[in-house]
Amino acid sequence: MTDHYPFVNTPLPYAYDALEPHIDTKTMHLHHDRHLQGYIDNLNAALQDQPGLQSLSLEGLICSAGRLPAAVGTPVSRNAGGVYNHRFFFDGMTPEAAAEPAGALADAINRAFGGFDAFADAFKIAALSVFGSGYAWLVADRSGRLRIVTSANQETPLTMGFCPVMNLDVWEHAYYLKHYNKRGDYVGDWFRVVDWKKAEERYVECLRCARP
Ligand code: MN
Repeated sequence: MTDHYPFVNTPLPYAYDALEPHIDTKTMHLHHDRHLQGYIDNLNAALQDQPGLQSLSLEGLICSAGRLPAAVGTPVSRNAGGVYNHRFFFDGMTPEAAAEPAGALADAINRAFGGFDAFADAFKIAALSVFGSGYAWLVADRSGRLRIVTSANQETPLTMGFCPVMNLDVWEHAYYLKHYNKRGDYVGDWFRVVDWKKAEERYVECLRCARP
């Protein structure tokens, strides 16, 4: 599979109803087939007349967008970010979720936050603190240390110099059908389907570039 223009909407790594009852089927359909599809269509449209950008990966587009003229860079940044953030979010959930991380990620969480429960509390506070639309992220900084950050709209931690480990979409479209305006309930349900194995794989990958 190519990871450049023209981008296609790859299927979810599980069935639409696989995350029930925590994330509902209709939300997964709308979120993947309409919201993510919209970012893919708009990204392809933004790249259509930009042959110099058509071989770049999502990460390459996100990191290059700031140096482009705004008429090109703004739609590329917003829509490449929208595709990247949604794929990262969907790929970070599983119906066979462990309750907590294990291995290197668990050790790093203990070091950075003093234990899993303290980390989960801090992550929830961060998710609730996002004003309007955005994401909460667990990221590794350049020394490999874990941090919780938030991003507005479809901005990504890549342009903040962080390596993402997991993310939570807190746009209302991610939870409103099931959880209404109760974002905190959604965060609690999402914690039941976090793919900690995938998060640990990503964290170990982040450490390859870290300079402790
Ligand atoms: Mn979303």
